Amino acid sequence: MNQKSMVALSIFFLCLFICFGYSSCARETEAKRLEPALASIAAGDLAADTQILSSDEFEGRAPASPGEEKTVAFLEQEFRKLGLEPGNGDSFFQEVPMVVITADPSARLEVKAHRKSVSFAYNEEFVAATMRVMEEVSLVDSEMVFAGYGIIAPEYNWNDYEGLDVRGKTVVVLINDPGFATQDPAFFSGRTMTYYGRWTYKYEEAARQGAAGLFIVHETEPAAYPWGVVQNGWTGPQFNLVADDDNMSRCAVEGWLHLEAARQVFKAAGLEFDAVKTAAARPGFKPIPLGLKASLTLHNTIEKVTSRNVVALLLGSRRPDEVIIYMAHWDHFGINPALEGDQIFNGALDNATGTAALIELAEAFQRLKRPPDRSIVFLAVTGEEQGLIGSEYYATHPVFPTSKTVAAINIDALNIYGPMKDVTVVGYGLSELDAYIEAAAKEQGRTVNPDPTPEKGSYFRSDHFPFAKQGIPAVYPSGGVDHVEHGREWTLALKEEYTAEHYHKPSDEFDPNWDLSGAVDDLRLLFKVGYRLAMDPAFPNWKEGTEYRAKRDADMAASAARNGGPSPR
Ligand SMILES: [Zn+2]
Repeated sequence: MNQKSMVALSIFFLCLFICFGYSSCARETEAKRLEPALASIAAGDLAADTQILSSDEFEGRAPASPGEEKTVAFLEQEFRKLGLEPGNGDSFFQEVPMVVITADPSARLEVKAHRKSVSFAYNEEFVAATMRVMEEVSLVDSEMVFAGYGIIAPEYNWNDYEGLDVRGKTVVVLINDPGFATQDPAFFSGRTMTYYGRWTYKYEEAARQGAAGLFIVHETEPAAYPWGVVQNGWTGPQFNLVADDDNMSRCAVEGWLHLEAARQVFKAAGLEFDAVKTAAARPGFKPIPLGLKASLTLHNTIEKVTSRNVVALLLGSRRPDEVIIYMAHWDHFGINPALEGDQIFNGALDNATGTAALIELAEAFQRLKRPPDRSIVFLAVTGEEQGLIGSEYYATHPVFPTSKTVAAINIDALNIYGPMKDVTVVGYGLSELDAYIEAAAKEQGRTVNPDPTPEKGSYFRSDHFPFAKQGIPAVYPSGGVDHVEHGREWTLALKEEYTAEHYHKPSDEFDPNWDLSGAVDDLRLLFKVGYRLAMDPAFPNWKEGTEYRAKRDADMAASAARNGGPSPR
């Protein structure tokens, strides 16, 4: 080695030393800076707030009920105590206008066959509702047709409505999608539910086709929950956002058929349900006119109410107009006086825990000596259980412009089973937020995994989804499943048991035996993710090829054009 290269090598090592020394020092500084914040996240606090929010006193936290008053007042008080600012002008609230439609439960569904007719009981055998703001909606001798999965998906070369005119007719469809039915990974998304598998899509498509009514056949496995969840969710007061057309573009009747009722319907049509179901998952399936006529009248009481999203703000120190949103839904199902025994849906896990997490994260951010560069928004939304209403309203009436909203992190039900070796991210692989989560998980010695039960369509089932539809990078990290002591099967079995026994039932109550230590890990992780997003000038985007990216790119470009500058970083 000559002298020149010796010098070059020395300089190289010197630089390496400086760089390495500097960056490890910067890391140390961050770790030190975050220490008191991370330490403030505690299982005891989470348990205490969860207990308050899920107490009988809060009456199950139904939107526009005395339970709402108590819930939003509690949240405002906690955010104020922590020194946060009102997030919506001088208010902690964003009003969400809703319509509440309650159908008379004496309704019966009559299905007329050639000679005889069958009649089905509301609640036990079918449920039905209308989103139309009308006191009475009817199906009168409406021709029934079976349209497979009720899907039009050009990218999968699939059209269940091909050659079919369903105007004025009543369509019967299956839940989930043909990929789930066949478990073929090359077909739709295989076991992973596509949006086409969600009931919300099926009603949207039937409305576009002009159907008078749509009934989905309920099956527990492809729906991901038992009939009881459908009953709780679809009977009693139904909340909806008020659209300009009073939702007249929706089908008159939207409902579900219990599997046994569906079997009877197909039998009346001279068909066997299982055979028809198998046929519906095969390419080339053709819709089947059932030769039956459906009649049903729903008598509704209609009430217009206002509910509230709670918005609290920690103002950023250098880029206060750019925001990171942590969100969780505060609402649950309230009280059902028709139930025997316990009538209060306490919603302790779903989602008093997530709401408590917002308070805990807010406290952690307040423990920082200096607020992060960007602002942090704590958004507790209403009406999630009734169809993502509060988050849909916020996403379409954003307080902070969508182009200034860096990311949304949704928390819906904390991990109550203890420490996990992994962290589950619903929406993993979709956006550049993955890298932030991976880094923070690695620091805890944890791995990041996608949703272990993608067949449940979780990405479409909580409040990040309306944000994703508006192009805002959004994730839903939800604990993990690989328990440090007991492993994966143990956790999955407990989760299954919760879904079967307690999910959306009055028995979702606070349990002092919950192990919230894993939730503390998760919130420390999410704190770091939010903090780094708030310090990093970058705007993470959706990954190439995802359906949400075009919207984000257009939004950012429009914002750049408005501001007359180059696109934001
Ligand atoms: Zn829920």
